[in-house]
Amino acid sequence: MANTPNVTIIGAGPAGLMAADVLSTQAISVDIYDAMPSFGRKFLMAGKSGLNISHSEDQAAFLTRYTPHTPLADYVSKFGAPDIMDWMSGLGIEAFVGSSGRIFPKQMKASPLLRALLNRLQERGVRFHTRYRWTGWSSNTALTFQTPDGRVEKKSSAMLLALGGASWKRLGSDGAWTELLSGKGVALAPFRPSNCGFSVNWTAYMSDRFAGAPVKSVRLRVKNQPQLQTRSEFVITKTGVESGGIYRLSAALVAALSEARPATLVIDLLPDLSEDAVLTRLQRPRGKASLSKHLNRTLNLSGVKLALLYELTDSTQRADAWRLAQQIKALKLPLVAPAPMDDAISTSGGVRWEALDEQLMLRDLPAVFCAGEMIDWDAPTGGYLITACLATGVAAAEGITDWLSMER
Ligand SMILES: Cc1cc2nc3c(=O)[nH]c(=O)nc-3n(C[C@H](O)[C@H](O)[C@H](O)COP(=O)(O)OP(=O)(O)OC[C@H]3O[C@@H](n4cnc5c(N)ncnc54)[C@H](O)[C@@H]3O)c2cc1C
Repeated sequence: MANTPNVTIIGAGPAGLMAADVLSTQAISVDIYDAMPSFGRKFLMAGKSGLNISHSEDQAAFLTRYTPHTPLADYVSKFGAPDIMDWMSGLGIEAFVGSSGRIFPKQMKASPLLRALLNRLQERGVRFHTRYRWTGWSSNTALTFQTPDGRVEKKSSAMLLALGGASWKRLGSDGAWTELLSGKGVALAPFRPSNCGFSVNWTAYMSDRFAGAPVKSVRLRVKNQPQLQTRSEFVITKTGVESGGIYRLSAALVAALSEARPATLVIDLLPDLSEDAVLTRLQRPRGKASLSKHLNRTLNLSGVKLALLYELTDSTQRADAWRLAQQIKALKLPLVAPAPMDDAISTSGGVRWEALDEQLMLRDLPAVFCAGEMIDWDAPTGGYLITACLATGVAAAEGITDWLSMER
């Protein structure tokens, strides 16, 4: 078909693959390129501990999860959790809603979904190119790629960049694309780790004895920000804390640390008991029992929770039942710095919203669209990340279709 427009998609993660899925239903020829030897590596990694693809909470609550004052909510309102479940079902993948409201594929893993999607794309004639690293534009406006066979140039009617953020470089998302776009004058926000762990100045006892230990059933909040709290668990690492509840609060903590403000996590070790109830139990006769034994007997505090209490209080605080009850309900853990960005589940930063029009086309580079984590937004874990990647993939594909129809 001589007049069939050709679209180049660069980046085969959830955003790029979703755009390919939408575009491949049109009279458009689609090529998708990725620097890695196979597609969807980070998506597969996301499925390792259960692919949490979206969340079933009502839409008003859902939209509050995303960085406020960005247009992202518009895209997620148009393609959200119910659409994702329908889309999965169309690929033969059944979804289920877990007790926390999170949505997963029934098989939990990402591989059956990725396989079904890649099969459908191939059946529809989408051409796959692995080991093609996009390196920019040649002087005559063609795209340039570094490939195992050397430098290659390609022309296309429109292109979608879905290059991901800047964490887990070994899976392909290395953020190296920022140089290519800033060279063209595209406004970019610096990358920041998100959904990340933090370093803590643990004593040797704490890091040697408790690295890897989960701290279960606690309530976590950020000091001086009472609205930011979560009932969850987290994990002690050799050098700090990570996982679940920590990720959920990480945006505020990273923001504080990047402005050189202190970032303190406040831990309620016994969220099911009021401070009064804790005090009443602490005041029960102790006899000759040590304090640890008394804490264990009266409040069931032992193991890592007890170690945290001793790590973060001094002997004067522990000597007084009233002050000890306060500490048990609001133990303060000063955080030193975010863990290295490459270890973060996601990154914020990237292409600034003002560089994009409503259809996700770069204002200064006509026919070049963006989608996914490479755009400057943030969200906690809970399925919100992949939802936003898929939603912007759909929006950019629709933008490309409109653009091509105007150009014809
Ligand atoms: C351990 C882990 C667990 C996670 N779990 C979840 C979860 O359960 N739920 C959730 O919502 N999110 C989760 N995430 C986050 C989620 O995986 C990402 O937000 C999502 O993959 C981003 O999608 P994307 O399409 O924007 O980019 P990516 O998936 O990062 O894909 C970008 C692609 O672009 C390619 N690329 C980059 N530069 C170039 C170039 N110059 N030339 C060619 N190709 C290039 C890369 O190779 C890569 O394949 C998890 C992440 C990690 C690391």
